[in-house]
Order: sequence, then C-alpha cells, then structure tokens
Amino acid sequence: TEDVPRHCTWFSELQTASGELHLETISISKCLLLVSSWVIIVFPLLQGSFGVLDIENLKRAIEEVKQVILDLPEQSEKQKDAVVKLIHLRLKLQELKDPDEDEPNIQILLEHRFYKEKSKSVKQFCDKCSTIIWGLLQTWYTCTGCYYRCHSKCLNQIAKPCVRSKVSHQSEFELNICPEVGLDRQDYRCAECRQPISLRAVPSEARKCDYTGQYYCSNCHWNDVAVIPARVIHNWDFEACKVCRYSMRYLTLMMSRPVLKLKEINPFLFNYVEELVEIRKLRQDILLMKPYFITCKEAMEARLLLQLQDRQHFVENDEMYSLQDLIDIATGRLSCALTEIHTTFAKHIKLDCERCQAKGFVCELCKEGDVLFPFDSHTSVCQDCSAVFHRDCYYDNSTTCPRCPRLSMRKQSQSAPTNPD
Ligand SMILES: [Zn+2]
Ligand SMILES: [Zn+2]
Ligand SMILES: [Zn+2]
Ligand SMILES: [Zn+2]
Ligand SMILES: [Zn+2]
Ligand SMILES: [Zn+2]
Repeated sequence: TEDVPRHCTWFSELQTASGELHLETISISKCLLLVSSWVIIVFPLLQGSFGVLDIENLKRAIEEVKQVILDLPEQSEKQKDAVVKLIHLRLKLQELKDPDEDEPNIQILLEHRFYKEKSKSVKQFCDKCSTIIWGLLQTWYTCTGCYYRCHSKCLNQIAKPCVRSKVSHQSEFELNICPEVGLDRQDYRCAECRQPISLRAVPSEARKCDYTGQYYCSNCHWNDVAVIPARVIHNWDFEACKVCRYSMRYLTLMMSRPVLKLKEINPFLFNYVEELVEIRKLRQDILLMKPYFITCKEAMEARLLLQLQDRQHFVENDEMYSLQDLIDIATGRLSCALTEIHTTFAKHIKLDCERCQAKGFVCELCKEGDVLFPFDSHTSVCQDCSAVFHRDCYYDNSTTCPRCPRLSMRKQSQSAPTNPD
C-alpha cells in the first residue's frame, strides 16, 4: 500500500504530459509497480475469487470500490487511496473493452455535433455532470458548434439544444440588465435542468446568472464570469459577472459578432465615452479609404484591407459593434490597433502610391493648398459628387458645389443622341 502515493504522481504525469507519454513508454520499474499493486489492490477486492481477471469480475470490483469511496469520509487519505484503486481498475477495464471500437466518432444530438475526442491527456470537466473527465480512462465528446464537453455516458442526459443554433437564428443579446423574475416564478427549480433549488441551498444551492437573470443549480452554473453586454451598453460597465454554463457558451460564441448598433440602442453613450467618438472617426475614415484600395492593384496585392480581416464589419459599415470591439475600446487596444492601420492606409494613398495620389482633390473653391483626400481632417465632402474641399471654404460657399454642375453637363452631352452617320 505504500506504493500508492507513487502511483498518484505517476498517474497525474500521465494525465498532464500532453499526450506524449503513453502506456507503452512506461518504464519497466513502473510496470512492476503497477503489477505488484494489482496483487495488493485487485485480488483482495475480488473477495477470494482468484479466477481470471475478466470483464465481469472487474466491473464487480469497480462497483465495490465505488461503494467504499462513498462510505469513506470526504477528502480523507483513505478515500484518496480508494480513488487511485478505482482508476487502476477502470484503466484495466478500458484495456479489456477497447472502447474505441464500440463508440461512434460522431454523434448528432439536439443539434449538437459531438466528435469523439482522441486526446487522452487533458483533464477537464464534463458540462453535464460537472465531474472530471479522465481522458485516459473515459471516452468523451466535444460539440464542434458550442464546445460543450461531456462524458460519453452523459450524452443521453443532455436536455438543452446546441447554443450554436441559437446564435445563427437569433443573433441578439439580452439587453436588459439581469432581467430577474424570481425563484418563485421558476417554481424553485433550476431554469435549465429543473432540479429543485433554493437560496438556502436546500436541497441544493440556487445560483443566479447575471445574463439571463434566472437561477440555476450548481451543475448548470459553475460560477463562471463573463462581461455582460447589457451592462456595457447601458452603464459602460465591464465588470465580469457570474453566469451559467449555457450563457457562458452563448456569450463566447457571440463575442466577435457585430450585432450591436450602438447609436440605436444607446445614442447617449457617444456623449459620455470619448474613446467611442475617436473610434467612430477612425472607422469613418477607413470607409473613405476603402474605394481607393478596391481600385488600386498595388493595394490589392499588398492585401492592405486584410489587416481588418478580424473585424470585417469595419470594412462594411461604421455603426455595428461586437462585444469584443467594446471591450477592446475600453482597454484602449482597439484605438492603438486602428490608429496603426489608419496610418498605414493613409501612407499608401498619400505617399507610397502614385495611382492613389492621383485621385486626390484640389479644393475648387479656393484653388490653393495641398492635394486633399476625403479622410483628411478639416475637409468637407460633397454628398452628391464626392469632391473634397477645405472645410472652411465649403461652409463659406455652402450654396453650391462647383463640380456637380460640370459633371451633370458632361453626362448630358454623353447621353445626347448621336448622329447615326
Ligand atoms: Zn459527465
Ligand atoms: Zn453544441
Ligand atoms: Zn440545473
Ligand atoms: Zn494605391
Ligand atoms: Zn479651399
Ligand atoms: Zn458636388
């Protein structure tokens, strides 16, 4: 029995060595240790039946050790030893059963797409039963849509459909701050699995999810924390709050989706948060630069617009924000990144590229000064013909744009019927 602690470390090595350490690579001395512990651990458990160690006997032994673990005091040394015994027994059973044969690689269930995990070394928790997944001993699955992880034995108990389907169909955030209705309205049951709960933890603890405002049992709510979109939008508050597992998965999947139209949800935010005004200006400029890039071969070859590929919506509009955008605005990260991109873009158009430079404007109102671009500061752009002027010149002459009539004259002469001869 004094071998047991050594097995403990050996076992945790196996679990954490990122898959490189396999059973085959265990040294001879460790094998001997294992074999000797079999004699000590398994045989007495079989209560005298010294027969062949077949699957039935092992299963019986596993059940007995399980009972022993339940009977022993929590966290006691003896209980820990028994857990190690259980692990060894299951390991042996796994070898005999070769479970890779009888478990399918893909299982579709309530719109989840569960793939069987190959990794033996990770130590994670099952999203269904919230106990540990022993990669070495147990078959487990991950949903490729929502990253729900669970034991193969727990698959059948999953009640909630894949959150990914909700993301694609609905694509909205709850924008009321913690819309609580009360435990009584939930019938004193977990909002997800319907297990009875109460705030006095009888029969089991009720945990509030700050995103849905509902209460959950400790299996469905692990005290994960997340930034809550409603708190950001209404209070510019980025403090992470406790959420249930389901909300956690949903918020993670929605994180980078540009679904927040700030100026509609809370237009006042721009009055209070300076950084937002700065970002809006940068985004507007980038949209003004975009036409240069999509007509410039060099810019296409340099893949300049791809610098924004992580935030594709910045190339499309200047009003939609993702939750990640807002978090990055609050930390200052977005301002840094966007200013850098803005500088690179402006440098291409105004300095590096002759083709783009040639598309600059001379202010036709004063006919003086440098070549102007629509994204330069202190300029104004004609809404109709996109000509660029000094802002001061434009406001002094706000009645007419000199370019518009010229353009329409040219258009008229072009569309005039030509003599067939
Ligand atoms: Zn489980
Ligand atoms: Zn899923
Ligand atoms: Zn529950
Ligand atoms: Zn160019
Ligand atoms: Zn001017
Ligand atoms: Zn004009």
